[in-house]
Amino acid sequence: MSASLNGRSVVVTGGSKGIGRGIAEVFAQVGARVALLARDAAQLEAAAAAIGRGAYGLCADVTSAQSLQAAFTEVARRGGGIDVLCANAGIFPPATLEDMTEAQWDLVNNTNLKGTFFVVQAALPYLKNSDQGRIVLTSSITGPVTGFAGWSHYGATKAGQLGFMRTACLELAKYGITMNAVLPGNILTEGLAEMGVDYQNSMAAAVPLKRLGNVADIGHAALYFASKEAGYVTGQTLIVDGGQILPESPEAMA
Ligand code: NAP
Repeated sequence: MSASLNGRSVVVTGGSKGIGRGIAEVFAQVGARVALLARDAAQLEAAAAAIGRGAYGLCADVTSAQSLQAAFTEVARRGGGIDVLCANAGIFPPATLEDMTEAQWDLVNNTNLKGTFFVVQAALPYLKNSDQGRIVLTSSITGPVTGFAGWSHYGATKAGQLGFMRTACLELAKYGITMNAVLPGNILTEGLAEMGVDYQNSMAAAVPLKRLGNVADIGHAALYFASKEAGYVTGQTLIVDGGQILPESPEAMA
């Protein structure tokens, strides 16, 4: 499966940290040429150096179509094309519904949902020229499957990504491009670490497999969707959560 990614050009948004960096590492390990996109140049440089194997960083903001177009032009110039887009960049600053401002709502929507639209649209001209065009979205269990107080705006964007995907993949099928989504549970990343140790411990206790996920768990799911062997799979979701969505109550855990 992984052999089909050898030599392929892969773009990972939010590739400087967390899940995106984990996805990038998994693809680089199977021989893909990986471009990491994010806003912070120093973090991009550090991540690319740590990943090695020709990985490189490019500054881009997913809330700006212009910024993404410039980054993709540069990716194509360096590598000759784009085969795989991992649309992963996202933010999850909590805010309760009663306190949420319009600016907070807009920031989360502009990054997670409008950003998905922008990045997919900007990548299309390149993906259309690939014989293995793949788009892999990082959604979440929060929104599509579960809820969590303080994340109504976030959950709306993560469910919205799936609604976007289910129509977009129909439009892209004629080019042989597939679009699928990975739905992570609680994955130990820099972003999750900001939620604090108590949050991490309570989340790990709620997971039947008794641990938080690691970024490679998501990277391997993305690798499957990007592979040649997954060429007949489109518009689908894969939950990677250690079984977290299954228990009906704490008593349901063995
Ligand atoms: P993270 O550790 O905070 O990393 C977020 C990445 O996105 C960074 O590289 C960040 O770099 C980039 N980013 C943020 N805003 C951006 C923007 N406007 N333009 C370009 N890049 C931007 O987050 P994470 O935990 O890995 O989450 C990554 C994705 O997984 C998100 O879509 C999130 O919703 C999803 N997810 C995470 C979990 C989890 O448990 N961690 C669970 C379910 C789903 P810069 O700030 O430098 O731009």
